[in-house]
Amino acid sequence: MRKIQMVDLQGQFEEIKDQVNDGLQKVIESAAFINGPEVHAFQKELEEYLGVKHVIPCANGTDALQIAMMGLGLKPGDEVITADFTFAATVEVIALLGLTPVLVDVNPYNFNIDIDAVERAITPKTKAIVPVHLFGQTAAMDEIMALARKHDLYVIEDNAQGIGSNYLHSNGTKSKTGTIGNVGTTSFFPSKNLGCYGDGGAIFTNDDDLAHIIRGIVNHGMYERYHHDVVGVNSRLDSMQATVLRAKLPHLDTYNNARRAAARKYTQAFAAEEKIITPLVCDNCDCHVFHQYTLVLKDVDRDGLVKHLQSKDIPCGVYYPIPLHKQKAYQDDRYNEADFPVTNQLVKECISLPMHTELDDEQIAYITDAVKEFIHR
Ligand SMILES: *Cc1c(COP(=O)(O)O)cnc(C)c1O
Repeated sequence: MRKIQMVDLQGQFEEIKDQVNDGLQKVIESAAFINGPEVHAFQKELEEYLGVKHVIPCANGTDALQIAMMGLGLKPGDEVITADFTFAATVEVIALLGLTPVLVDVNPYNFNIDIDAVERAITPKTKAIVPVHLFGQTAAMDEIMALARKHDLYVIEDNAQGIGSNYLHSNGTKSKTGTIGNVGTTSFFPSKNLGCYGDGGAIFTNDDDLAHIIRGIVNHGMYERYHHDVVGVNSRLDSMQATVLRAKLPHLDTYNNARRAAARKYTQAFAAEEKIITPLVCDNCDCHVFHQYTLVLKDVDRDGLVKHLQSKDIPCGVYYPIPLHKQKAYQDDRYNEADFPVTNQLVKECISLPMHTELDDEQIAYITDAVKEFIHR
């Protein structure tokens, strides 16, 4: 059996090797390292794939979130509501811009922001909601958009883990995640579903005016050369990363289907396990791209299982072990423990198994057998 990895990027590289090597060679020879034709071509190809009017590439997914908030003109004192159970980047940029993060609880069944908790947290100072399509599962966008319209709020989708995921609207139509709110953001960190070979990110929007503002912000606030109209940042995707992403984008649906196939096999193997809650997927639905395959364990020594898997050379992850509202950087007297029953429980019960495009049946059987062995001993 091949060694099991949490994320296997070597296997994926083998299939696109020639295209990537040739492309990188061309970039080096052209010396168009920054803002070259590769970046522009990738931008167009991603716009087409997502069905969104504007993609603005940038340096990473954290910058993408920050720039989106700057583009919307959010100001110190504005409150921004986001999930307590997510990667810290989401709340970090809110705090960094001097905005007030308001963390709320998530749903136990899909780990995404809880609509009722969002509604309870809205005050006259609230300006935006940041749903995160956590682990690749779509958040309840119709409900979030309705709430945002009712209270006149912006919606910024953190789609770093959800690229390629399709949200099924209540009217039966579908949209790619990241294209539903006022603005969406993603990360091309190597382990993400669409990852480059370094750092990268992008911002999506259908709003022409916002796209224009953001294009200036990523480039030092310049709309005309050496005229700095607003305070901007320096955040660019480089041509080498764009070349890698152009090689991978045509395979993204295949990659995501490979993740779904692995997820289905995991879920089947755990079907009879009463102590294991497998990820929820709706019938016939492509709403999940399985950035992570995350189990919730009931009445199981989660940390013991982590050690057991490690002893069998099976990597696993605990995403995330501490709720954001309990992190030193984001603690606040306004928070009340009683408002976070789900997150406080999930951090103790969740475990993510290896998930990538190269998992084979033998590996999946080895992993699921090891989990079951621990649970039944
Ligand atoms: C990875 C990630 C980010 C940050 O992306 P970087 O490219 O690493 O800056 C933001 N939000 C979520 C939910 C992520 O998973």
